Amino acid sequence: MAEERTLSILKPDATRRGLTGTINAQFEEAGLRIIAQKRLRLTLKQAQGFYAVHAERAFYDDLCAYMTSGPVVVQVLEGEDAIAKNREIMGATNPKNAAEGTIRAKHGESVEANSVHGSDAPETAAFEIAYFFSAIELVG
Ligand code: ATP
Ligand code: MG
Repeated sequence: MAEERTLSILKPDATRRGLTGTINAQFEEAGLRIIAQKRLRLTLKQAQGFYAVHAERAFYDDLCAYMTSGPVVVQVLEGEDAIAKNREIMGATNPKNAAEGTIRAKHGESVEANSVHGSDAPETAAFEIAYFFSAIELVG
């Protein structure tokens, strides 16, 4: 297994309830390092560009509107096998199906407002990190 970087987003339902510290603690306890982080209010265009791979899905418009409904925290997590490890910590997309102890099981409100996003492969991680951060903002 190799050192990897993945893009994580704390979604509007998480920032609204003041869960940034709680969720970040769970990442750090699992050995993921937060090597870049910023709080943003996404525009609709920015959300649409980020989720362009989902443009044909029925939930795309709702998802983009939701992601602009409040502040988000975008961050880069680094560590051994970070992409898969982060997805394991997040749990299944639908909080109802998420394993006990995962972030989505503990905090997710619905399949849409599921508290966190995490890249799903090395190629998407590279695109998503570059979407929000420049190289000098990644402090490993
Ligand atoms: P993410 O990409 O946010 O890490 P994921 O990879 O588990 O989550 P995707 O299939 O990529 O899930 O969907 C992206 C996001 O779209 C989900 O996190 C969720 O917020 C929303 N979403 C997915 N499926 C649905 C659905 N059936 N209804 C409403 N929203 C959905
Ligand atoms: Mg996804």
